[in-house]
Order: sequence, then C-alpha cells, then structure tokens
Amino acid sequence: MTSSPLRVAVVGAGPAGIFTADILTRQNRDVQVDLFERLPVPYGLVRYGVAPDHPRIKAIIDALQEALGSGTIRLIAGVDVGVDLPLDALRTVYDAVVISTGADDDAPLSVPGVDLPGSFGASAFVSWYDAHPDAPQDWPLDAEQVAVIGAGNVALDVARMLAKHATDLLPTEIPDHVHAGLAASRVTDVHLFARRGPAEAAFSPLELRELGEVPDVDVVVDPADMVFDRSSDALLAASRQRRIVAKTVVAWSERDPATMRASRRIHLHFMQAPVRIDGDAHVASLTLERTRHRANGTVEGTGELVSYPVGQVYRAIGYASSAVPGAPFDALRRRIPHEKGRVLDADGSVVSGLYVSGWIKRGPVGLIGSTKSDSLETVTRLMEDAEAHADAGGRPDPLPGLLDRHGLTGIGWDGWLRVDRRERELGDERGRERIKIFSREEMSAVARAESTVRA
Ligand code: NAP
Repeated sequence: MTSSPLRVAVVGAGPAGIFTADILTRQNRDVQVDLFERLPVPYGLVRYGVAPDHPRIKAIIDALQEALGSGTIRLIAGVDVGVDLPLDALRTVYDAVVISTGADDDAPLSVPGVDLPGSFGASAFVSWYDAHPDAPQDWPLDAEQVAVIGAGNVALDVARMLAKHATDLLPTEIPDHVHAGLAASRVTDVHLFARRGPAEAAFSPLELRELGEVPDVDVVVDPADMVFDRSSDALLAASRQRRIVAKTVVAWSERDPATMRASRRIHLHFMQAPVRIDGDAHVASLTLERTRHRANGTVEGTGELVSYPVGQVYRAIGYASSAVPGAPFDALRRRIPHEKGRVLDADGSVVSGLYVSGWIKRGPVGLIGSTKSDSLETVTRLMEDAEAHADAGGRPDPLPGLLDRHGLTGIGWDGWLRVDRRERELGDERGRERIKIFSREEMSAVARAESTVRA
C-alpha cells in the first residue's frame, strides 16, 4: 500500500460531489480529496433546487455540511472547471477526477411556440425563487392563468410556488427581490398538465398532499380525468406510493367546486399532452391533446384538442445535464457515458482516471438519498483502479501550483462559513432563520473577507 495519499479531484459540490468526496475519505487508504465548485458556495441543487418552503429537505444540508466541515475534504469554490480551469489540467496533476456536475438545464419540449416569450423552463423559475446568482433579479408574474407541464415533483414545486401567497413564504430564506416578485403576482389559476393518468404520475405522496394544505389555495380536479386502465391498476397494485397519490387525487376530484372559496386555485389535469403554445409576441394559450392508455402503460393521442387561455407556460418535464468541456458527453441523452462510473469515450473505451457520479451519470431521477449508492458505485471502481495501478498516489500536493498557474484563488470552507454566518445574521435582523445572499459578487466578497484557499 502506498504511504502518500491518492489525490482525487471531484468537480461539483452538490449532493453527488459531496457524497462522492465523503465516501472517498472513508476508504481503507489515505485519499486527499479536492472538491471544485463553480459557484462561490457549495450544495448545488439542495441550495438552488429545493423549494424554499421545504426546510425539511434543507436539513440535508446539515448532513452535507457535516461531511464538508469534517476537515478531510478541501473545498475550492468559485472555480469553474472546464472554463476557468481546463479539465485536462486537473487530470494531469490528480490521480483521478470525478465529474459530479448534476443537471442544471431543462429537458427540451418539442412543440411549436415553445420559444415564445412567456414560455419558461422550470429550472429557470426554480433558480429565480431560490436566488441562484445566475438567475435574473426580476420575474414577470403578470398572468392570471398559467400552465405547468409535467407530473413530477418539480411540477408540484413550481405550481405550489406560483399559487402560494407571498406572505406565506416570508418565514423562509427568500431574499427581498423574490418576495417582492411573488407579492406582485397576478396569478389566480395554475393549471398543471399530466399526459398520463393519476396512477402514472411521478408525484411523491407527501409533496402532493402538501398542495391541499396551501392557505387560500384550492385544488381542483375534474372527475372525468380520473382514468385508470388495466396497466394502471397493475402499477397501483405494485406501489403503495402510487396508491396514495391516486387516492389523494381521486378524493380531490370528488369535492364540489361550488364549495371552494379560496382566491387562488391549482387545477390538476390528467390525460392531456401538450401540442402547441400559441401567441403572437407572447404566450396566449396552450393547446393539448386528450390521450388514452395503450396496453403497455404509455398513452396515445385521441385527436381531441383542448385549449387553455394561459399567459405563461412552465415546462417541468425533467432536468438535463450540460456538457463539461473536455469530457465525453452523450448529447442525445444529456449524460456522460460510463460503465459503473468509469467514463467512456466515443468508442466505448474507458478514459483512464476519469469518473462520473450523480445526475450527469444516471440522469435526473431519484431522490437525494439514491445519490449515495450511486456515488459508492463510482468510488468503488475508482479505488479498484487505484489499487491495480501501483503508481497511483505519491504525487506532491498539486493544488497550490495548479491555482497559481491559472491565476485562481478558490474559496475554501472558511469562506462558506462566513457566507453562512452572514446569511444567518441577515435572517436574525428580520426574525428569520436565514436570508439568502443573491449576488455572486456579494457572496464572493463575504466569503473572501479573510483567508482563501491556498492549500
Ligand atoms: P420526473 O419525476 O422525471 O417527472 C417528469 C414529468 O414530466 C413526468 O410526469 C413525465 O411524464 C413528464 N413529461 C416528460 N416528458 C413530457 C412531455 N414531452 N410532455 C408532457 N409531460 C412530459 O422529473 P422532475 O419532476 O424534474 O424531478 C426530478 C427528480 O427530482 C425526481 O426524482 C423528483 O422526485 C426529484 N424531486 C423531488 C422533490 C421533493 O420535494 N421531494 C422536489 C423536486 C424534485 P411521463 O411519466 O409520462 O413521462
């Protein structure tokens, strides 16, 4: 066994990168992990993808914080690998590099009108309400009727955030500009469209039931949309989660809309697939085609079209990863090709010393917990390869020279602690737990106030 450490760079400090780094430090061998992050702060989608009214998921940050703060992982934030620092430069000086950059984009929806102003990918809206530094400051919530396409948890987040009254989000960590944007919203009706039935929806039961608890928002479901066939019955029989989801939706469909008094509504529509978005200079309506089940659990169009006069359309049909310059990428599947975490090139050959974990490896599915087992698979392969190559390990610490050569000064763990402290102070001043800092410059300035990473 080599006495000097195996040196591994992990790219991306979201859940996948942090889990990967943490597992690497727990090996039966000395492993030095440097965790690179393009933003000035860590946590990726947990900080910039989880809705602000979901603090219990934010508790995951506490677990990730424990791993990052343990002193065994070096954080180098504010350094964009592939942009500020070529991937090859990393591969030259580290024994192994793991790419864990997640999924930051929206899956494309190919319908006419999708590029009209007023048609948005969910990830852009989520970035806005989560105060991502690359998001715009203002979001035009100027339509009364809006559509959300998709039947997953992101669609639920988007629909809930659109329908919720801004005052009910005040106790959260949203900054003032997001609160002001939500407070100015004209929305009264949010229409969520699932192309399949209630049994096939990708909602989690807890997240779905939460819709029914939003103050002054009614959930409206048309009983005619409660369509189940033999394949959906089989799905329900196999999954308790699906049974709870279906039961919840059916119960909502049985309520009399005449008894509903809320000032805003979320309408859940099923068995309707988007066909086109219409409008001259801006979204004016969304047209969908009614669907029916096929024997294999998918759906097909019936030819019956239905239009909704909506002023905005949000596409929440799944996320997609972006290529990392210098790494192989399957542009069609929007993932890095791999074999159990070992990156493959265009010929299907293993790229020595390059690994992948998280959503850019397996696609944007699964709750955060599933990222752990995925990271473990990648680390297991990496360690197998390191053991097989006797020359792995024994290199001098590459970080200071690497940063110097590229004129970079990363933000370390101490920098995040300063941002964390400042955000809590901002919260304290207003009787809230935390208020997020929005601007990248401000975050960097707070983070860099004292020492910076110089290993
Ligand atoms: P998702 O769970 O994969 O759901 C995507 C939805 O989009 C599905 O209902 C899918 O319908 C629909 N869809 C796909 N293509 C479509 C098209 N062309 N037209 C109409 N509908 C289309 O993805 P997600 O909502 O982005 O969530 C990603 C992951 O993050 C999931 O694992 C989710 O559970 C997790 N997440 C969790 C939370 C939480 O609070 N726990 C919050 C956000 C996200 P089909 O099934 O018919 O393809």
